[in-house]
Amino acid sequence: MTWRNRAACAETDPEIFYPDYRVGDRNLKARLVCATCPVRKPCLEDAYASAHSRTWGVRAGTTGAQRCSTTNIVRLLSEFDRWVSRRRLHSP
Ligand code: SF4
Repeated sequence: MTWRNRAACAETDPEIFYPDYRVGDRNLKARLVCATCPVRKPCLEDAYASAHSRTWGVRAGTTGAQRCSTTNIVRLLSEFDRWVSRRRLHSP
């Protein structure tokens, strides 16, 4: 069994992880799936492993632009965890 077997997105429409950036909520649906995922760290490490996956789509709650702007995986995951916490605080 690999980390992929435990991925929260395994049963999710993959299209939401490659959002149309011309549309309003863009990556929100994918990031909310990632917020529940127990394998964010290996997913993010995997995203950094290739130029294509580093650049495209939502992985571990991060966008390609975010991954390109930093090489610090721990910092990106911390920022995403803070984003998840803020969403929980402001949810009804
Ligand atoms: S962190 Fe997100 S993209 Fe990565 S395996 Fe989990 S749900 Fe899928």
